[in-house]
Amino acid sequence: MDGFKYKDGRLYAEDISIQSIIDKVGTPAYIYCKNTFLDHLKKIQQAYSEIDTTICYSVKACGNINILRHLAQMGSGFDIVSGGELFRVQQAGGDMSKVVYAGVGKTDAEIKNALDARIGYFNIESEAELENLIKIAKEKNTTAKAALRVNPDVDPKTHTFITTGKKESKFGVDIERAQKVFADYADNGSVKLCALHVHLGSGGNTIDPYVEALEKTANLVEKLRENGHTIEAVDLGGGYGADYETGYSPSAKEYAVGIVPIIKKLDVKLILEPGKSIAANAGILATQVQYIKKGGTKEFAIVDAGMNDLLRPPLYDAFHFIWPAKVEKNFVPEKRTKDLDISGCTKYDVVGPICEGSDFFAKNRLLPPLKRGDLLCIFTAGAYGHTMGSNYNARPMLPEILVDGDKFQVIRRRQTYEDLVAPEQI
Ligand SMILES: *Cc1c(COP(=O)(O)O)cnc(C)c1O
Repeated sequence: MDGFKYKDGRLYAEDISIQSIIDKVGTPAYIYCKNTFLDHLKKIQQAYSEIDTTICYSVKACGNINILRHLAQMGSGFDIVSGGELFRVQQAGGDMSKVVYAGVGKTDAEIKNALDARIGYFNIESEAELENLIKIAKEKNTTAKAALRVNPDVDPKTHTFITTGKKESKFGVDIERAQKVFADYADNGSVKLCALHVHLGSGGNTIDPYVEALEKTANLVEKLRENGHTIEAVDLGGGYGADYETGYSPSAKEYAVGIVPIIKKLDVKLILEPGKSIAANAGILATQVQYIKKGGTKEFAIVDAGMNDLLRPPLYDAFHFIWPAKVEKNFVPEKRTKDLDISGCTKYDVVGPICEGSDFFAKNRLLPPLKRGDLLCIFTAGAYGHTMGSNYNARPMLPEILVDGDKFQVIRRRQTYEDLVAPEQI
């Protein structure tokens, strides 16, 4: 469920029509529903309410400081993967004790800043990183808590680029090696190694891989405790399904049914790092059809957004439902699925203006007949949309609009050409 709905053939974000927002801010633009973000967070909080749970929203999914502030005010912590994301959470006024920091290549400067900020847990990806963290904490005469990221060798059956929990991936350490890491490093006086972290990757649409990974992790917790180590928390990472196609992914509650009993028995704190299950369907990318072009047997709808604005289709071969912001009654979509076969639809390739063959949003997609000037909406673009944007082809980064009921706020203005060259010198 999200805040985007058709009323009388016009798409609304909560109580404002997309067209009326675009009339003021222009295209392309990201439009988010504030209450969809907050509803998703609330549902996760409720699903896990019977155990001690910290939800650490993954900043890299959608990191606008305005949105982070709203989530922080509702009690969310944050999962960060860089010094820049730490800065964003600080700007948003986030609670540092609820910040977890993952990433295989943390630099000394990033580690120092995170130590100074007194974040909750460093999620450690290798022995070398842990050694370095201990060294820096000693030099600064400070302490920190760390979770060891273990690799449970579970396949969430998703795209290989977003699979991170398999043995051959670069993340974490093998579950067999974890015991040795605790034996070698747990007792160091500066960094308290007292938690485990697992992150399977993104895109899993069943709960089974999570339960399997958690069971393996639970076994490890018991073994570590037998060896005298204290394990106070298990961080189960993110990657929970998001509704790219309506009704396709499990709800927070369904995940919780599998996860909560295991955590209860273990008697540990649970940390979750949801990203796209909170952000994905909270946002759309609105774009205008510039030209309709026939090429051989194909018909192209060339739009004013490009792969620099939304990279997921070329990068992950990701599906995004696309539909016009205004349609005749018979074209109102009941579901956001791949081949909505409504009579009168035409097949289009929806492509951007960039000089790359990979600059596409959809291929052979059935859509109502389009014409120059039509406003198209690319759905479920809230996660890994704006955050993966770039200035490629010297295209300014897009504005971000946050809708709350019948009001909207520009929470990031459109970049100008002056912004583009501002850091450069002649
Ligand atoms: C990206 C990432 C997440 C969030 O993943 P989603 O698929 O957006 O839920 C959580 N934890 C870590 C360590 C990540 O790298």
